[in-house]
Order: sequence, then C-alpha cells, then structure tokens
Amino acid sequence: MATAEIAPVNDFAKYLNEISEKWLRKWYEDRIFEADPKPGKPKFFLTAAFPYPNSPLHIGHARTYTVTDIYARFKRMQGFNVLFPMGFHYTGTPILTMAEAVAKGDKELIDLFINVYHIPKEDIEKLKTPLGMAKYFHEDAKKAMKQLGLSIDWRREFTSITPQFSQFIRWQFQKLREKGYVTQGTHPVGWCPVHQNPVGQHDTKGDVEPEIGEFTLIFFEGENGEKYPCATLRPETVFGVTNLWVNPESEYVLAEVDGSKWVISSKAAWKLTFQNRKVKIIRKISGKELLGMRVKNPMTGAKVPILPGKFVDPNNASGVVMSVPAHAPYDYVALEEIRKNKEVLEKYNVSPNELQPISIISVEGHSEYPARDIVEKMGIKSQLDEKLEEATKQLYSLEYHKGVMKENTGKYSKLPVREARDKVKEDLLSQGKADIMYEILNKPVYCRCGTEIVVKILENQWFLDYSNPEWKELARRALKSMRIFPEEFRKDFEYTIEWVRERACARQRGLGTELPWSPGWIIESLSDSTIYMAYYTISKHINEYRIEPNKLTREVFDYIFLGIGDVNKVSEKTGIPAKILEAMREEFLYWYPLDSRHSGKDLIPNHLTFFIYNHAAIFPEKLWPRQIVVNGFVLYEGKKMSKSLRNIVPLRIANRLYGSDVVRLSLAVSAEINQDADFSVSLASSVLERLRRLKNYIDSFVDEYKINNVSIEDIHKVMDKLSYADKWLLSITQKRIKSVTEALENLRVREASGTALYLMEQDLKWYLEVSEIPNPYVLKYFVSVWLRLLAPFAPFITEELWRKIGEKGYISLAKWPNYDYRLRDLKVELVELYLRRIVDDIKEIVKVTSIKPQKIYLYVAAPWKYELVGVIIDKLKAKVENPQREVLKEVMKNKEIAKHGRKVVELVKSLIDFIMPLSEEYYDTLASLDEEEVLKENLQYLKRMLGLEKVFVMNEERTNYDPKGKAKYAIPWKPAIYIE
Ligand SMILES: [Zn+2]
Repeated sequence: MATAEIAPVNDFAKYLNEISEKWLRKWYEDRIFEADPKPGKPKFFLTAAFPYPNSPLHIGHARTYTVTDIYARFKRMQGFNVLFPMGFHYTGTPILTMAEAVAKGDKELIDLFINVYHIPKEDIEKLKTPLGMAKYFHEDAKKAMKQLGLSIDWRREFTSITPQFSQFIRWQFQKLREKGYVTQGTHPVGWCPVHQNPVGQHDTKGDVEPEIGEFTLIFFEGENGEKYPCATLRPETVFGVTNLWVNPESEYVLAEVDGSKWVISSKAAWKLTFQNRKVKIIRKISGKELLGMRVKNPMTGAKVPILPGKFVDPNNASGVVMSVPAHAPYDYVALEEIRKNKEVLEKYNVSPNELQPISIISVEGHSEYPARDIVEKMGIKSQLDEKLEEATKQLYSLEYHKGVMKENTGKYSKLPVREARDKVKEDLLSQGKADIMYEILNKPVYCRCGTEIVVKILENQWFLDYSNPEWKELARRALKSMRIFPEEFRKDFEYTIEWVRERACARQRGLGTELPWSPGWIIESLSDSTIYMAYYTISKHINEYRIEPNKLTREVFDYIFLGIGDVNKVSEKTGIPAKILEAMREEFLYWYPLDSRHSGKDLIPNHLTFFIYNHAAIFPEKLWPRQIVVNGFVLYEGKKMSKSLRNIVPLRIANRLYGSDVVRLSLAVSAEINQDADFSVSLASSVLERLRRLKNYIDSFVDEYKINNVSIEDIHKVMDKLSYADKWLLSITQKRIKSVTEALENLRVREASGTALYLMEQDLKWYLEVSEIPNPYVLKYFVSVWLRLLAPFAPFITEELWRKIGEKGYISLAKWPNYDYRLRDLKVELVELYLRRIVDDIKEIVKVTSIKPQKIYLYVAAPWKYELVGVIIDKLKAKVENPQREVLKEVMKNKEIAKHGRKVVELVKSLIDFIMPLSEEYYDTLASLDEEEVLKENLQYLKRMLGLEKVFVMNEERTNYDPKGKAKYAIPWKPAIYIE
C-alpha cells in the first residue's frame, strides 16, 4: 500500500517512524518474540481475535491488538514466558461478499479503498476474487501489525484455509458430532435471498445479529371464506379487536397458501415462500380495495371493519394487523383520529360506537384503557409520532408482567397475561384458526451485499446445538471459573449462554473447510474459529517440518490434544516421527490452558461465547481458558467511524502520521477498556508532544549529568548523601511503580498509561524545580523506571532511549521495575505534599490580594485540634458510612473539645476533606508526625520553594505576633498564613 507518500505530521513524528523501522528490524533479527516452552519458567499464553482480511486494518481494530500487546509486554517484562501468536480468518462470507462487491464495481467501496485507505488504483484488480482479496489484505494487515509493534511470534501464523488447519477443524467437528452437539434439523435462520445463504452477524452491514421472532397469524374470515391472517406477538388480545388495519397505499394479494386463500401484503406472500409454504398468487389487490370490508373474529365471532392505517408496515410479517385500541398505543391513536372523522366513518359505513376500545386486560394502577394512559402521559398526538414505538414497548412489558385477563375473555379470564398468551395461541393453532410466520424483529437488517435479510426455514441443515442442556451446563461451568475483564460484562456472557440456541454451522459458499461428512457444506466463520488457539501451539512444528495435511489424521490430534493413543503407533501410521509428535503434545500442554483471550465487546453474543462452549466440549476441564478481556470500540473525534462518514482512520496511515507509539498511547490513555476510546488529532498531537519532551529530558540528562555512565543499582550506595528532594522522587517513584503494576494486572490501561505518561512527568518536573542540584544517581534511577513503565505502551521510543541511557539489551525484555520498599519514605511524601499545599495557598493569597510578600508568618494549629486527626483516621480506617457524623459524635464527648462548639464541625469537615483523598497507606505516618517540628525542620527547603528568606513559624497558642488575628484559623496540616 502506498503509505510511504504520506508525510508524518512533524519532524518528531518522522523521527518516531525512523526509530520504529530500526527497532523492528533488530527485534526480528534477534527473534525476541519467538516463544518456545521453557520448563520451569512461568508461561503466559494470550491471543486476540484474528482478523478477516477483507479490508485494511483501521484504528478500531488496533485497540484490541494494542491492549493485548500492552498486556503481553507487561507480562514478558514481569518474567513470564509469553506467547502472542496471530493468524488470519479467510472463511466465509465476510471475505466473499466484499470481493463480490469489488468485482461488481461497487463505487462506494472502491472509492473508500482508493481514497480513504490509499490503496493504489492498479491493485483494485487483485481484490476481485475472495482468495485474491484475502491474500492482499492479509499481507497488508501483517505489515500494519508489525509496524504497530505487536510482539507476535510469527512462526505460528496460519490462515483458516491452510489445509493443515482444515484437518484440525474436521477433527473438531467429528468430536462435536460424536458428542451429539452437531444436529441436523429444521430451524428458522436469517437468510440473504440473493446469496441463498444463512446470514449471521458477520455477514451483515454494521455487524448486526439478526433476531428472529415468531408471529402468530390469526385468521379473520372474509365474506367469501378468504382468510385475513393478522400478525401479532400478542395473540391474547384477539378478544379486544375493534377492526383490522391495512395500509391503503400498499399492494396486497389474494393468494393460495398451502391450499387456502389468504389476503396478505405481496411482500408477505414472497417471504412465506422462504418458510416452506406453497404460495400461488391469484390476483393483486390494492390496500384501498380492502377498506370497509367486514371480517369475522375467530374467537368472538364479531364482524369488524377493515380500516386504513398508514402506520402499518406491509413489509412486517403479513402486512395485516388487528386493532386493539384499549391495549395498543398505535391502534388507540389511529382510531381516535378516525372516530373524529365523519367522512371516513360514513365512507366505510362504521359508527363511532363500534370503534369504542374494548378493555380485556386489567393492570393495577391503570385505567380501563392502559393504551390511552400511556399515550396521554407521553403527549402523543399522531399515528406517525415516533414515540409510539417506545409507548408500545413499555405497554407490552407492563401488561406481560402485570396484566390479568378480564371476564370478557371467557375461559382465559383471571389468567395472567404471560400464561394466557401461550394458551390462546395453542388453542388457535390447534383449531386451525391461526398459523405461524417468522420475521426479523430488529429489521431492517441488510446482508453485506445490500439485500434485506428475510427468515428462511432451513430443512436438514447442520446446526451446532448450543441449546443442548448438557453442553449449556458445561459452558456455564467454564464461565464460572474464568476471570472476565471488565467484570461487568460477565452478565452478558451469562445471558448469551442461556439464550443461544441451535446455530447453522455450514454454508454452501465461501472459503473454508468442508463438513467431513457432508461434502459441499462449508463450515462457517463463527464455527471454525472457536478453539483455533490450541492450533497455535503446534502450528510452529507443522510450519517448520512442513507436515503434510494428509498426515494430520484424527489419531494425531487425539494424541496431541487429548493424550489418546500410543505415540509410536500414531507415528507408524502417519509417518510423522514420534519425536515430533511428542514435542507437539508437550508444547500444547506447556501453553494450554489459554491464559487470556482478547476481543471487542461486539463478539460477546457469538464468538466469545462459542469459544467458551467449544473449549468446554472438546478439552478436559483443567485445560479450559482462564480469562477473557473485552474492550469497547474506537471513536474518531467523538464519532463512530463509518464508511458513509468516510471518517475511518486506517492503521497504517495513523502509524505513519504520528508514529506507532503515539497511536498505541492514544488508544490507551483515552479510555479504560469498558469504555469507547476516542482517537482525535488533538489527543495524538498532545501525546506526540509528551514523547518529544520525554526524549528532550533524557537527552539533556545524558548531556549534562552523564547518566549513561551511572548504574541503576548504585542508588543504594549513595543513600546517605541524598537531599530531601532526592528522597522524595525516589519514594514517589515506588508509589508509581505500585500503581502502574496494579493497574496493568487488572487491565486498567488508562490508569496505567496515564500514571506513566502524565504523573511521572509531573513528578520529574517538580523534582527539577525544587532540587538545588539534581542527583545523577537519582535521575538515572528515575528515568530507568519511567522508561520501563512506559515500555509496554510505547515500545519504540523507550527501546531507543533505553540504549541512550547506557543500558544493554532490549527494554522489551528488561525486568519490570520492582517496588523497592527501601526507597519508599511515606514521611517524605507527606511532608512534600504538605509543603506544596502551603506554597499553593500562599500563591493563591498573593494572587487574590496582589501583595508583594516581604515576610510570611505561618501559624500552626493549637494542640487540641490535633486530637481530631487521630479520631478521623480511626473512623476512616474502619470505613464508617458517615465519617463526619461518627467523628463528631465521638469528639463531642470530650468537654475540652466540645466547648469550641460550631468551630469543631467546620474543623472536622475540612480535615476529612484533606485526609480522605490521601491513600490509606499514609494514615499512620500522618498521625505520628508533629506539624510544628516538620515545618521547622524543612524551613530552609520551604524558603527555597517560596524564593523568600523571611518565613516565620509560630503556634496558634504561643504567638507574640498576630496583627490581623489570623492565628485562630489554623487547621492541623493547614497553617494559618499572614503575609506582609
Ligand atoms: Zn447477500
């Protein structure tokens, strides 16, 4: 791809591009990310969902890969033997439909490829076949991943159509079939009429999983015996029907459906052909022709009129609906309009009385007509009001959960709605008064080819039976034993496991693996990607020894993955040396179970749940995955990226513009993984600037203080020569090490990267500001920690600077900084915080009063006030619910304190405001310190921070100079200030 012609945004970005190329070359020359089993060394195996190479990667894809890589690099530096492999998913419709669109000359798509992704025009030709496209974007994505600095072991790479991998998938499906998890049956599925293929989330525009609903078609009978099948999800409301609705502007047909005559929309007649119906159109009828006719309610015998309803969607189920104004907001509003319209009433020969709503369900706390209640409450005036959708949903749920059938519903009287619904439906169906039609509930859903999806009943199709109770139970158990990051997504997994049912697992088109027992059927893409992580553990050997596919028999996989069979016999039968077979088995057992699986949150309802299911089906419990990490999406300048907005940011271009380190850091600092990240030009520019400053600091430390000649370890030899500021920087650095480490352990990448990128720069700035002469040992120590904490996020610049400060080897392989308790000094940190607060307060006073300070007097609080500090700390440690109240309750028992009255309340409040935000680790130190002593000890230091010699410390109770009566305002750890 022609990204080289794109110029980086500035010279520093250009520099980042240059050093990236250099370090990539070195990393691959030295093979530092190739991971082999090292017995005795703890291992960490993590994978991210492999991409469909059907377009170049953009920064949305980069998020999952970046988070995975940050985690991989962190674990590697912690001393784990880390394996992060990658493959490419060629299977099925995602590639197929995209290639077809290019072949057909889809203008929008080709324009996107050329003008947004910068694909050279002459390359478009290569994208016209599925395989051509897959290979092209495979290479492109691989380049982008390398550029991004992903620490992948590329020796294990494969595609989902690699013949050896196909053997593995066949083995998996045979296993599933033997366990009874693959079934052949007849089920409704989402279907593309053009492609003649089932359609799942990955085949649709916008990646929408089609939801299939079952409508009841209730037959109202016309004068000549023809049936008007009214589509409803609420068959129990048949008792409250006042009329039927058809859309006067739509085309209807009289059709013979399975031998009887139906009046339905012409769209419905067509859709029914996908649902195993014999449909013969007798004649077309316009909606208008139907108006005013009378039809008989099959439950009540009432003859009701057909009236015009513009809101009726002829494309939804049968296109004929019954009107239940008491319980359906649409019907209520539309009917009110008609009842007021004399002309219409006369035209169709209807009296307003017969259109009076019929109440058939009682709901506590509502009037006879809940539909009217909700319409009035929401202020809905017209049948085309969009709020009607929401009103319908609310009432549907209300009546389902709280509604009870009234007496006028005969034998269903007093039944809760949720029971009556199924009973009425069953009765209608068994008496031949109704039928079933499937429809897409979240329609319109479009196939990637642009065709709207319909429901098809597939007969004798192959399904993975995710409804199998035994299998469901295994999946539940596997989920229970896993860590889910962020934990809040666990409930989505639980929901999906309960909800997921049979799923068509094979298609008749696209690249992929044939079902072993049914030639012509290709295993679809969400079914051949569930346990491929196991294949990475042996693809290294398959690639290295070029093991031929026909040798990879089921005995081979049984032996490697399940330990079944005798290795010598397997070897004899297949011709694969026993040594290699044993090595593969060992390698699998070394890396498995998978330690962490990473993906975007959109894959929870399918891929990630199937991943759990299939692992639980195939592997023994001790090899089930340990953890799933799910991340949110990426916005660009606050907006969702989309083809139509043309605001997609291709990864390779972003890398080129800003440097990969900046792309990685921007994705990390803008959001925790449960949120959507927002990539923007201003964020990328500010991160770029931070990295430039990082480099400047380090360049200057090397120039001025020769920190490249200092050893990191030497810090302990100079401890007794350290200044106050030195001790502070060393101590606060321990705090940063702890917080970045803890955050990364828990995948809080925003907190971790924010601490390393922003807080540590602030620490350094402060240190340089307050220390008389910076100490090279301290600087070296700090910088070495800083670079290592940043390394997982910005591997290239830290690699470069690591060498610059005189370190040998790769920072990618360096030891993660240890929290060194010997360098931690809580007192120093507290004192620093305290002095800074004084300095800030003084600056604030100076700003407000615009005095030019000559002398500053600081009054430390009276001794009784410190008693409050101890009590507050006790209560905070005990984590009481309302600390202020609890503290006051206790201290007011003390007469000496109580006599100060209201003043105590104020004091307690401001002390809690000061102490509570401190982390608990400081509490004991704070309680043990004497403020006046601290202040006197550090007076010289404070004077330097203030740039003023005449600073005096006094005590509220023993002061001989307090001209403005300021002393009484002193609060512990917040002295009163008087400036002259
Ligand atoms: Zn299609």
